[in-house]
Amino acid sequence: MTHRVAVAAGDGIGPELTEATQRVLEAAGASIEWVEAPVGKAAMARCGEELPWESLEKMRRLGVVLKGPLIAERLSGGAQVRAPEGVRTHPSVNNGLRRELAVYCNLRPVRGFAPVSGRYAALDVVLVREVTEDIYSGIERSVNEECGEAVKRITAQASRRIARFAFEYAARFGRKRVTAIHKANVLHRTDGLFLRCVREVAAGYPAVECDDRMVDAACYLMVKDPAAFDVMVLPNQYGDILSDLAAGLAGSLGLAPGANFGDSVAMFEAAHGAAPDIAGKGLANPISLILSGALMLDHLGEREAAERVRLAVELVLGEARVLTADLGGTATTRQLTDAICEACERVAV
Ligand code: NAD
Repeated sequence: MTHRVAVAAGDGIGPELTEATQRVLEAAGASIEWVEAPVGKAAMARCGEELPWESLEKMRRLGVVLKGPLIAERLSGGAQVRAPEGVRTHPSVNNGLRRELAVYCNLRPVRGFAPVSGRYAALDVVLVREVTEDIYSGIERSVNEECGEAVKRITAQASRRIARFAFEYAARFGRKRVTAIHKANVLHRTDGLFLRCVREVAAGYPAVECDDRMVDAACYLMVKDPAAFDVMVLPNQYGDILSDLAAGLAGSLGLAPGANFGDSVAMFEAAHGAAPDIAGKGLANPISLILSGALMLDHLGEREAAERVRLAVELVLGEARVLTADLGGTATTRQLTDAICEACERVAV
């Protein structure tokens, strides 16, 4: 069966990684018709907008999106969308895309690989991050020239929804425990509400253990004991920070895949950004987007091809002969991609 998937190659290293991912998914036996839906700098160059309505409509219609990272300019004033009913402004281009596609969950499974992850080879944690609210809600103002403030908004509805996603995921993929991450000892009315909602939802999943950790203690524990966590459910900002921490422990941001889920759209993207410092040099590690592609194949019901991609990545990293610079090697993006494509032929699923 051929699947139709919207693709936005993104900025910086995005186009190199997108091409690599498309090649690997094909080598793994997936049949995909790619429908271009540019956003970010490519869209700006083409039609003067970073989030063109036409691309958003394609993504909503197809329901499945592969996306490269986007550059969110610092201090840019946000990203605008010219919707038929009027212009909407979002805090950043990525935040705007997630809001326009109504995704609420960012799933980041981060695992270590022997030998490249060293003492973190046993790390195998799934971060389930809420992405619609918290301190990234975009409710921010200047009080005066010397003072600014931002609102941390947490609702029971969004907290219960992300908790249900985390417990459903744990139940479906045989995970044993969900840990809620918070700072409820200080932020009683926001993180406290989040924690109460997670506990309330947990009661409906007696087969999955539920516990909680303060965010600072969670960072410490993750570094000290790579096997400490199974599934973590986190408000937006803690999820943002801890997923990069987990990727760093695994050895590189280039190893961490990601997926965003809403009720009608699923968007797959690497955990890292557009890495402008290495863009166009053939130095980027494509594995995070390739593994995001494997998550996409799971979502499309192509379990065998997804497993083939994961085993091929594991094989190449295990051999440790063809590695990009972030993993201590000298291979280019293309050489690592070639090795993974070739490994797709060697693995038995
Ligand atoms: P970054 O993740 O782009 O880069 C951080 C560091 O990691 C850099 O040194 C980079 O070279 C390295 N790196 C990242 N991905 C790599 C890969 N695949 N292989 C090898 N090395 C890799 O973070 P940043 O520099 O803070 O952000 C750059 C831009 O990306 C910013 O405009 C930011 O807003 C944007 N960004 C986008 C997303 C997204 O689209 N989801 C996420 C994070 C950041």
